Amino acid sequence: MLRKALMISTPLVASLAAAMMMFAQAPAGGGGKGKAPAPAIVQIKPGLYEVTGLGGNISVRVGTDAVLIADTGNLGEENYTQLIALVKSVTPLPVRAAVVTHIHQDHSGNTASFVRDGVPVWAHEGEKALTATYVTNGKSIAPPSNTFGKSQNITAGSIKAELYNYGPTHTGGDTIVYFPDLKVIHGGDMLVSAAPNCDYPMGGSVTSWVKAVDEVLKLDFDTVIPGHGNPMTKADVQAYAQKWKTFVQRASDEVKKGTAKDALVAAIKVDDLGWNAASYNQPARIDLFIADLQKNAK
Ligand SMILES: [Zn+2]
Repeated sequence: MLRKALMISTPLVASLAAAMMMFAQAPAGGGGKGKAPAPAIVQIKPGLYEVTGLGGNISVRVGTDAVLIADTGNLGEENYTQLIALVKSVTPLPVRAAVVTHIHQDHSGNTASFVRDGVPVWAHEGEKALTATYVTNGKSIAPPSNTFGKSQNITAGSIKAELYNYGPTHTGGDTIVYFPDLKVIHGGDMLVSAAPNCDYPMGGSVTSWVKAVDEVLKLDFDTVIPGHGNPMTKADVQAYAQKWKTFVQRASDEVKKGTAKDALVAAIKVDDLGWNAASYNQPARIDLFIADLQKNAK
């Protein structure tokens, strides 16, 4: 029996080792492509750093007496430890507040660790509601300690930040974090310098999203830390808003025409926008997408 068990276990160990090696080389984020870049922190402006390589982009606002973190990186204590080490590499000041822009684990992943360490974690009330059902690789996300509805002013020591929710966009509980003194917005996945991705099962809406980007443009800012991709200028966000209008117009036209569900993906042109059909080309999303556009047309 022992011999047999050993014979079985040897290839099992080998395949486990291979799987672990593959896992180690796989991107840390959810659904990314290619090899994940090493975690890094870079200064964007005096008092503002961006952490990359731990999931979605993380903003680190360093004040005179405290630090505020916007987004918390991929789920996992090792990611939290790396994030805190990167913050410590640029300032000895304590983290006094954190904000989670939305439910996805590459942004909300370390809510529990911040709360455990005595840091209040803010998120939209919709994000808190989604923590009840959201599961990623069999794990849940802890609810935030503090929530808000439409807008909220928060502080961390002398740092002032404004939180805004403009209705459903990327999910049903998105927050942007505005630092008025720096003219910087931390956008989460509502503002991305790549193709946006509307998570319908998590409460997203393209028809509300297009309006939300116009609301963002009313703020006085010159820099956006997007949820993914390189920092954006206000002109970039203006161009993004225009793409949103083009996209929603095209999608609305097709739905109004009654284009069949299985023909919709091909019918809505997105390649000239540099976008893709990820928001609506999967079974869990397409019906919700069509219903969203039909409701908007009424
Ligand atoms: Zn997301």
